[in-house]
Amino acid sequence: MLLVAGAGMAGLCAAAWARQLGDEPVVLEKGPRPGGSMLLSSGVVWRYRSFEEFRAQCPTGDERLQRLVFDRLDEGLEWLESLGAPVLERETGNPLTEGVRFDTAGLTDALTRAAGEVRFEQPGTDPGTDPGDPLVLATGGFQGDPELVGRYVKPAAPLRLRANPWSTGDGLRLALARGAALSEGLDEFYGRNMADVEFGDDEFVSLAQVFGRYSRIFNDDGEEFFDHTAVSWSELDLVQATAHQPGARAWYLFDEEALDERVRYGSVRDLVAQAPTRTHAADLPFTPPQRAVVATRVAAAITHTIGGLRIDDRARVLDDRSTPIDGLYAAGVDAGGISTGGYASGLASALVLGLTAAESALS
Ligand SMILES: Cc1cc2nc3c(=O)[nH]c(=O)nc-3n(C[C@H](O)[C@H](O)[C@H](O)COP(=O)(O)OP(=O)(O)OC[C@H]3O[C@@H](n4cnc5c(N)ncnc54)[C@H](O)[C@@H]3O)c2cc1C
Repeated sequence: MLLVAGAGMAGLCAAAWARQLGDEPVVLEKGPRPGGSMLLSSGVVWRYRSFEEFRAQCPTGDERLQRLVFDRLDEGLEWLESLGAPVLERETGNPLTEGVRFDTAGLTDALTRAAGEVRFEQPGTDPGTDPGDPLVLATGGFQGDPELVGRYVKPAAPLRLRANPWSTGDGLRLALARGAALSEGLDEFYGRNMADVEFGDDEFVSLAQVFGRYSRIFNDDGEEFFDHTAVSWSELDLVQATAHQPGARAWYLFDEEALDERVRYGSVRDLVAQAPTRTHAADLPFTPPQRAVVATRVAAAITHTIGGLRIDDRARVLDDRSTPIDGLYAAGVDAGGISTGGYASGLASALVLGLTAAESALS
């Protein structure tokens, strides 16, 4: 019998697939509900249009894992639809990527139904819950633990959490105690620069300020710390750099020309008008460049870690000598080193590695 720790994207996929393979898996979930961060997400399960683009965008990621995620995604998407997961869109709106956007409540429902037995408020990583059955770690990373984030990501100040609150590195700790090795990219993370205000999980998307590339980017000390013409399409490089600035904060400064730039729905001016931290250039705590008219203050927030447990392309957790640890598998954010050096869909790797982990564990 397969044990799965975590009822988010990776864990539910692993359990639902294990059931179709004839097993009777049990999913142990720390939180009071299924879906993890997947439920809070925008639901776009995507990949780069070509494998070469994936390699170019995430150059230091593990090539074998990238190949696996890239090659198995279509099969995974079809399977999700076969379970009844409702599709909202069949395009991503990004010329670099392709994929499917699901309704995340419907996706969570379909997967939970298919997964069978899910026990809530019961961590799957407690010492007493390991009776010797194969265990899939799908606890969603360590972004919810400020101590682990401080140790590995090393931000200048604590990062805001833009994710479910239960992913606090339990899978990582359990595997390390069993001799697991860590992947590359432990200092990297996926996140967003958010409006620097308090926010709830219903504002994770609306308060994300993904328009840094149109601004000039300063820190609280008035230093222009990032060349706005070099910001990547996902703005992840800017978010990670912001995490290392005083207070893990930044100011985006706009001149009239930047405000007139067109974006997907409207103009930069519209986005800035909606930003709760917009500030007149004259009121900034430092002397702005002459043409700047308005600014917004942003704070780096972490959605999930990018580094994690080192696994092979059968989702087996590896030790320092790259030997699989008996009975231990990892999928989703717990498995590190896939999108290192850039950004790739966390839902896509959770889906594919969830399927792979179930197959390996039952083979
Ligand atoms: C606002 C937002 C928007 C996003 N948009 C997208 C998007 O459009 N496309 C995309 O690809 N990605 C997106 N993501 C990221 C995506 O949600 C994650 O990459 C994905 O959910 C990772 O899957 P997972 O199974 O590893 O983690 P999760 O889905 O978070 O599941 C982890 C589960 O493990 C549970 N858990 C933690 N510790 C334990 C324990 N000890 N025992 C048992 N259970 C435990 C948690 O409670 C949680 O239910 C977004 C995320 C957010 C927050």
